[in-house]
Amino acid sequence: MSENSPIEWTDATWNPITGCTKVSPGCANCYAETFAERFRGVPGHPYQQGFDLKLWSNRLELPLTWRKPKRIFVNSMSDLFHKDVPLEFILEVFHTMNKADWHCFQTLTKRADRLLELDRHLPWTDNIWAGVSVENADYVHRIDYLRETHAKTKFLSVEPLLGAIPDMNLKGIDWVIVGGESGNRCRPVQKDWVLDIRDQCQRAGVHFFFKQWGGRNKKAAGRVLEGRTWDEMPPSIASKNKCAI
Ligand code: SF4
Repeated sequence: MSENSPIEWTDATWNPITGCTKVSPGCANCYAETFAERFRGVPGHPYQQGFDLKLWSNRLELPLTWRKPKRIFVNSMSDLFHKDVPLEFILEVFHTMNKADWHCFQTLTKRADRLLELDRHLPWTDNIWAGVSVENADYVHRIDYLRETHAKTKFLSVEPLLGAIPDMNLKGIDWVIVGGESGNRCRPVQKDWVLDIRDQCQRAGVHFFFKQWGGRNKKAAGRVLEGRTWDEMPPSIASKNKCAI
């Protein structure tokens, strides 16, 4: 958790929950698990319990102490809609996001079915974005679940991109982030897959953000696609939300 995040599409991370379990192929090389498990058993360390799910009530109000408006990635080390996170706790997370209306909160889940199931209970103020991860064509149904929610700004994290995803239905989607997998066991991304998604976004008028090629040396591989970087984001950030980022 950090007031400054190196993740290209956010400013900060906030983890009122840590730990998770795997649900689909995109989880195979989960960076959060690798990081957390490094500290399993270290007395007093925030990841003493490794990647086991843990709710941190004492972190719930942290964004209220950050006075400068930020984009905040919620639960970079977990999944807000994991089946073992009670609705009551999710509502407490939402309560903070509602109150801290000078920030933009980026929630992201692979549990799109539970996201939709709980949607009617969730107070989606304009400063809370909803995102789902889609790693290959087998998981495009998550986009359909997301579309049905009442979040005002909806986005897809297509990372790690593991295969071609042709003909996505992008109706109602504001933003698509694409990235290849990084690390020693990374599964290579193909340029054609990325270009096809960029073209789908352009045809649908959806903002496109290319995060990285990934690979074993992600810094060297960089994030240039066809001679330029792609850093589009929904224009609603400053206008729809109170935070003037
Ligand atoms: S859902 Fe996300 S945090 Fe959970 S195991 Fe999969 S990649 Fe990791």
